[in-house]
Amino acid sequence: MKAVYDLEDLRGWKKIACETSLPIRLGVVGDPVAQSLSPVMQNAALEKNDLAMRYASFQIAPPELEEAFDLFRQLNFIGLNLTTPHKIAGLSLVEEVEEQAQRIGAINTIVFRDGKSTGWNTDAPGFERAVREVFSVDLRDLRVLLLGAGGGAGRAVACQCAFEHCERLVLVNRTVSKAQALAHELNRYFSGPRVLGPEARLEAVPFEEAALRIQLARTDLVVNATTLGRKHFDPSPLPHSLLAPHLMIYDLIYQAAPTRLLAAAEESGARGANGLTMLLHQGALAFELWFDRPAPLGAMRDALRPPL
Ligand code: NAP
Repeated sequence: MKAVYDLEDLRGWKKIACETSLPIRLGVVGDPVAQSLSPVMQNAALEKNDLAMRYASFQIAPPELEEAFDLFRQLNFIGLNLTTPHKIAGLSLVEEVEEQAQRIGAINTIVFRDGKSTGWNTDAPGFERAVREVFSVDLRDLRVLLLGAGGGAGRAVACQCAFEHCERLVLVNRTVSKAQALAHELNRYFSGPRVLGPEARLEAVPFEEAALRIQLARTDLVVNATTLGRKHFDPSPLPHSLLAPHLMIYDLIYQAAPTRLLAAAEESGARGANGLTMLLHQGALAFELWFDRPAPLGAMRDALRPPL
């Protein structure tokens, strides 16, 4: 099996199918995609469940997505994961979109069944499960400050906070107009009778130290959904001086080395976790949609552990 397939491979799939010992019936589609940990995690799940098939990576550029989607369908794929930059474009390819995914406006999972394709978003509930697992708290009880509310992942996190009617949600984004637009969209989820004092339950604020300092005093959970931290020289999205021991910090970035944000959280006595648990839970939810059975979480988790 190749590490990454492309559109040319899909067009000549008969030849590929002859070369692989087990049929490839699932995959992740992205651009870039080589960095994805989904194949190692999903193949561990398939093996654990004695499902005689494989999950592969597909490097597909945006103009190629529609043709690739038709080929996946013709080739009897069971399902797909979509990653950057296809999560929004995927919406218009599937015949049906599940209700929450429709509200989020992005899909990361496709199920092909009975001649029909359905799009789901498992990033959002995967985030909620991850927070419960790593911090032993429910999202609905938290005051959340979300950095990077303008991106696709930030939007999924914000929507899940809204669906759960979390105590408070502060949307922060470099381009503040995007955070403001999202706050406007989610406003109806925060108009309930819960009374927490004079402060608004939903706010959009600029990515500025003074504004963040005020908000962090009334925050339980900080979520980093910016891309800041993916490169080793990236600065932390929050100045070290703003971190305090009462905070929980969830960084969606899931590389092995701690990001500057997580390193600073540890030094400040705050609890921190990286995005591996979200990756795990969104993948487990996708597996359950494809196979209608519980995902083997232990095997999937083991597959994601960095080698000692
Ligand atoms: P995206 O759509 O490109 O969004 C990027 C976000 O980061 C935007 O809000 C952008 O703000 C902000 N940003 C970029 N550079 C910045 C800077 N220098 N300073 C401040 N803000 C900056 O990316 P995405 O797909 O949402 O992914 C975001 C992160 O989440 C990535 O690191 C990705 O790997 C991770 N992720 C993890 C999981 C998981 O399962 N753990 C799942 C999905 C994504 P503007 O709007 O102003 O440009």
